Amino acid sequence: MTMHALSPDALGALQDAVGHNGMTADAVGMAKYLGDWSGDHHGAALAVLRPASVAEVQAVVRLCASLGLGIIPQGGNTGLVAGAIDIETQNSVVISLERLNAIRRVDADNFVLQADAGCILQTVKDAADAQDCLFPLALGAQGSCQIGGNAASNAGGINVLRYGMARDLILGLEVVLPDGELWDGFSGLRKNNTGYDLKQLFIGSEGTLGIITGVELKLFPKPVRTETAYLGLASFEAAVALFRQARRASADLMSAFEIIGSECMALARLIDANIVSPVEAPVHVLIELSASAAIDLRTLLVDFLGEAMESGQVIDAVLAESGAQAKSFWAIREGLVEGQAKRGYHVRTDLSVRISDIPALIDQARRFVALEHQGWLPLVYGHAGDGNIHFNVLPPEALDEREARARGADITAGLYRIVHALGGSISAEHGIGRTRHRTFMAGLAPVHRRLIGTLKSALDPQGLMNPGCLLPATETVP
Ligand SMILES: Cc1cc2nc3c(=O)[nH]c(=O)nc-3n(C[C@H](O)[C@H](O)[C@H](O)COP(=O)(O)OP(=O)(O)OC[C@H]3O[C@@H](n4cnc5c(N)ncnc54)[C@H](O)[C@@H]3O)c2cc1C
Repeated sequence: MTMHALSPDALGALQDAVGHNGMTADAVGMAKYLGDWSGDHHGAALAVLRPASVAEVQAVVRLCASLGLGIIPQGGNTGLVAGAIDIETQNSVVISLERLNAIRRVDADNFVLQADAGCILQTVKDAADAQDCLFPLALGAQGSCQIGGNAASNAGGINVLRYGMARDLILGLEVVLPDGELWDGFSGLRKNNTGYDLKQLFIGSEGTLGIITGVELKLFPKPVRTETAYLGLASFEAAVALFRQARRASADLMSAFEIIGSECMALARLIDANIVSPVEAPVHVLIELSASAAIDLRTLLVDFLGEAMESGQVIDAVLAESGAQAKSFWAIREGLVEGQAKRGYHVRTDLSVRISDIPALIDQARRFVALEHQGWLPLVYGHAGDGNIHFNVLPPEALDEREARARGADITAGLYRIVHALGGSISAEHGIGRTRHRTFMAGLAPVHRRLIGTLKSALDPQGLMNPGCLLPATETVP
């Protein structure tokens, strides 16, 4: 792998395109753009460019195309699959969208919000909230990830079961294509049945087809009632059965249904030692109902949980008596993710199966680890209402990191085999990036591979957009 260098002329032209504050090419200045959130991946770049307008994005892309440079679009760099850092080809520049960060318009009458791609997700949510609306995409990284990154990675999160993934929440996109031309796909229309839905091509494309510079989002009425409960159950079978019943019993007003294996509590306590588990049981469920009108959600929840406890399906239940208590329940869910990161390298997956297959997935995966990788600790949690399970595995603390990574790759492969056999997906929401591209491509039917290659080469004939992401750099396209 050879690290290329930019000529002084090329550097000067790129600098001119983005202005004085828009480029950094020294190792110290680039460092924060070249490591990922988990600390697992470190990349390289010839320069980091930070355009502050759509016109500057276009100018930079045109220059990169003429110089034959790879382009790595970068949002908040919170993706966990090395999609926004170049760890393979080493002939690329990072284009960070962080300076393209204005809320363009909130149209509460039509429940539409338009924003620059570099807006932080939390800023988008706050802007909707200020107009009595909800933008429902919600995930642990929402204080750092960008709405353009959410679109490019088709982010999921905790409210998918009610509102869908990013794909379902986007009305239109504005995209700079690999030759620098701008496609303006904003229309504000809810229904527009005129041929190919081009925005869907870019959503989830992980920066491989163009740079998203603007998004047009669906808003919803802001919930005025929310009820949250933390439950203890005996098994994942019981949790899945409960989900089915809860969906009906809550008049489909459930906005989150998270499962947490009790072994994850220790990780949440690494973030806040004062965290106390609200229940004592092998499986925990965090359930939230919400409504935008004064519906008596409390009675719905109490009646339903009363029956579930009477039948023995739920062992213990604590209903939040205040917003602060509900927050303390969510702190467990959020803390365990950050706690894992504190343990350093670990196997991290975001698997997806049919909801009814969740118990089988967890059972088979736990047995596989116990039999073949003794001493490794499985952690199970996830957005169970979507069939999305994070089956993560911590190495024994004494194990040397290099060995842990090698063994971790075997464990990941074993978990993917289990999920394949169940007809599931190796990525429910984090995407493919550079950590799963080979497994992803190898698992595709030839016709699927050909279609992907055809799309890629039609839109990006020079192969400059995010090389090595999603499609391995060595992948030949027709
Ligand atoms: C603590 C934590 C919790 C998380 N929880 C969830 C969760 O619940 N659900 C979930 O889905 N994800 C989750 N993630 C993963 C991550 O936050 C999401 O994938 C998020 O959508 C990434 O956004 P980003 O702006 O950080 O994108 P980046 O990481 O910067 O980029 C992600 C991909 O999109 C491309 N890209 C970025 N911006 C653009 C653009 N403007 N145009 C074209 N391509 C672009 C990049 O090249 C890369 O391939 C979590 C991450 C962390 C750290």
